[in-house]
Amino acid sequence: MQVIEHPVEKLHSALRSTRKELIEMYEKYSKEEKSFLEGCLIPGDSLFGPITIHSDSDWIPSHPEAPQDFLSFYSNPYRSTPNNDHKTIYIQTIGSFGEGAGITEQYVEWLREYCQAFYYGLVVKLLPPVTVASTNCTFRVNSNSYNLQLHAGELLSFLKKKKPKDAFCIVGITMIDLYPRESWNFVFGQASLTEGVGVFSFARYDDDFYKRSYAGRLKKAVRLEPGNYALFQGYYTPPITSKLLLRSCKTLTHEIGHIFGVQHCQWLQCVMQGSNHLEESDRRPMDVCPICLRKLQSAIGFKIADRYKALLCWIETEGGASVPHSGKPTQSFQDFRQWLCKCLNILQDEMF
Ligand SMILES: [Zn+2]
Ligand SMILES: [Zn+2]
Repeated sequence: MQVIEHPVEKLHSALRSTRKELIEMYEKYSKEEKSFLEGCLIPGDSLFGPITIHSDSDWIPSHPEAPQDFLSFYSNPYRSTPNNDHKTIYIQTIGSFGEGAGITEQYVEWLREYCQAFYYGLVVKLLPPVTVASTNCTFRVNSNSYNLQLHAGELLSFLKKKKPKDAFCIVGITMIDLYPRESWNFVFGQASLTEGVGVFSFARYDDDFYKRSYAGRLKKAVRLEPGNYALFQGYYTPPITSKLLLRSCKTLTHEIGHIFGVQHCQWLQCVMQGSNHLEESDRRPMDVCPICLRKLQSAIGFKIADRYKALLCWIETEGGASVPHSGKPTQSFQDFRQWLCKCLNILQDEMF
C-alpha cells in the first residue's frame, strides 16, 4: 500500500492559493473557519488522513494527471456556478427504484434531503418520476453480465431537454446499469460540465451485483427488439438498505461535485477522490477535504459549521422532515455522524 503524503506547505498553497485576490478572499473566512481548514492539513490530523493507494487498478495510478488546487479550480472558465436565477439542483428518477408502495418515494426523498444538506444553501427538487420507455433511449443486454443497460449519452440528451429554466443542474438517477458506447462494458455515470447535466446508476452498488446469483441477470437469451420497453416492467431493482443509501448519497454528491467543476481529488481523503471500482469507492469518506470544501464554499457561499450541522441533522432526523415515521436506515452513517460531531466541536470550541 502506498501513502500519498504532501508537504503541509504544498497543501496550504493548494488551499489558499498564491494569487493575491484569492488569498484576500480566503482571509474573509472567520478565525474559527481558517484554523479548522488549516488545522486539518497538518499530517496526523485525525479528520482527514492521506490518500492511500492499494493497487495499480486504483484511480490515481491508472489516470495520472495534475492535482487541481483552488487556483486552478477557480480560474477554470468552463465551470458553472450557481446564482440567484440558477440555484436549484433537479433530480430526475428514471425507471423503478424498488418494489412496494412508498419505498421509492422515501428513498429518493432521503437522497434529495441529503444532497440539499451537502450542497447547503442550494435547493434540491425532485422532478416527477419517468419510465424508461418515456426516455425513448436505446438499451442492450450486457454480453458478460446479462443485465439490462441503458445508453447513457441518450439519457443525457433526454435530460438536457427537461432541464428547467431555474436549474443549476439536472441529474438523472436510475437503478438500471448504464453503458456509454457499444465497445464499453459499463459506466457508473456520465456528465456534461458545460450543460449542467448528469446521469448516474446505482445498479452496481447492490451487494449482489457481481455475484453469479444476481437477480438482474436475464435467465434466458432474450430477443431484444428496439423499443420493447416491456422488459423493464418488473425488472429487478436492488433492495434499499442502509449501505445502498450510503453509497448512493456518496455517488450522487461526488458526481454533482464534478458539475461544479471540482476534479478528482489527490490531496487528502475526500469524497471527490476518483474510483475505478466498488471497493475503492467504499474506501472514500463521505465528505470533502478542506481544499475541495473551499471550492464548494466559494461557489455556494455557506458557513462551514452550518453545512456540517445540516448533514448531522439529516442523519439524526428519523425519516426526514417530509416523510415522518419512515425509519430512515442510517446505521451505515454512524461513523460519518461522529466525524461531523468532531468537526463541529473544533469549529465551535474555537469560538470561546
Ligand atoms: Zn468522479
Ligand atoms: Zn478533496
